Amino acid sequence: MAEPSNPVTPRPGEGAHAVDPHEVRQETMIAMLERERRSLTSSLLALSILAASFAFYSAPGLFFGLLALRLLSFLITRNAARHLLDSVRHKRDPFWPQALMVVSMAFTGVTLGLLLVPPPPGSPFGATLMARATVLIAVTLIAVTLAAMRAPRDAMLLSFCGTVCASLWVFPEVAEPAIALVAVLVVIGIRVYSENAGHHIVAAARVLVENRQLSEDLAEALAHAEYLSARDPLTGLFNRRKLFEQRENAARGGQRQILTIDLDRFKAINDRFGHSAGDRVLVATADLIREQIWNLDGDEHLGFRLGGEEFLIILDQIDSDQARSFAEGLREKIAALSERENGLEAATITASIGIARWYPGEELDEALQRSDLACYEAKHAGRNQVRAAA
Ligand code: GH3
Ligand code: MG
Ligand code: MG
Repeated sequence: MAEPSNPVTPRPGEGAHAVDPHEVRQETMIAMLERERRSLTSSLLALSILAASFAFYSAPGLFFGLLALRLLSFLITRNAARHLLDSVRHKRDPFWPQALMVVSMAFTGVTLGLLLVPPPPGSPFGATLMARATVLIAVTLIAVTLAAMRAPRDAMLLSFCGTVCASLWVFPEVAEPAIALVAVLVVIGIRVYSENAGHHIVAAARVLVENRQLSEDLAEALAHAEYLSARDPLTGLFNRRKLFEQRENAARGGQRQILTIDLDRFKAINDRFGHSAGDRVLVATADLIREQIWNLDGDEHLGFRLGGEEFLIILDQIDSDQARSFAEGLREKIAALSERENGLEAATITASIGIARWYPGEELDEALQRSDLACYEAKHAGRNQVRAAA
């Protein structure tokens, strides 16, 4: 029977804790990486639109090569995101997966920037417009998806801008400064919008963590309330309420024994040594009861404090002889308590114990009456005795 020997009552507010910023960061990452995983369909759709647009170009060879590069960077990013999600979920150090994510997002920016290079002369305007719009939409969606992961997002936006601007220098003869300017302005707009969206993602993650912590605190408080409702606050033994619940087990078979234990002349201990010394005796008696129950075979034995200096034990699957020797052992240990308790060496601490069998099908109250009577007989026979009901 697992019972703590010192019951503790938490002060109000104890157990409630502040939101852990590390957990908020973790939830934010999980939320974004999950979104990234779910964006597979839209990414494939963008790649298909680009492929269809390039097919209309007058000389699409180079563009299909760039598209293959884009597909490669897409696969690398997915892999990096999977690794990062794994390490965040399993609380491993995310430094390297995060670094890999930054590098792969920078590569994503380059491959998207390259897709904006001027189309070969003679390519249809509609196909060019479609391809470029798709690239800009893709950049927007990626930046919003990873809104709260600043480093990878900014790596992508910077490398995208850098690639578009660098192409002005590399291919000055076909350069389109207007397109580069549009790309830079769009990126600035996306950056501002994405930063805002990032705050919302972090706020949502914080609410999630707060709710989770609140429900954990609530579950803890409920478990504690349930614990207290069945316990005697001074000794931690079960209380009278818990004893009455045992009425439902009347039909249970096997040999069960009820022990009524009443400390002898306890009032005199209180009067002579003070109420708090009396309390110490009650706690020490409860600890003994717990200890003796622990040492007994089986784990269905129950120990109660019914109030004052009155205790009760229900022994499960124990016959009368075993119950008797258990009670004698307990009586002897209680009688030796005064030697163990500081300042109580001069006190006489003893108990009278009555035993009655709780027969299968018998009402609990009837068995209790017989064990009470046996305890009463032990008192009358001179106290510090064990008596069994007939
Ligand atoms: P008997 O041998 O006949 O049982 O005598 P007794 O003095 O033990 O019995 P009585 O019923 O006259 O006194 C019980 C005392 O227990 C009276 C009361 O002050 C004391 N008591 C009840 N609850 C507590 C408690 O929680 N702490 C302490 N210290 N004393 C308590
Ligand atoms: Mg008493
Ligand atoms: Mg009493």
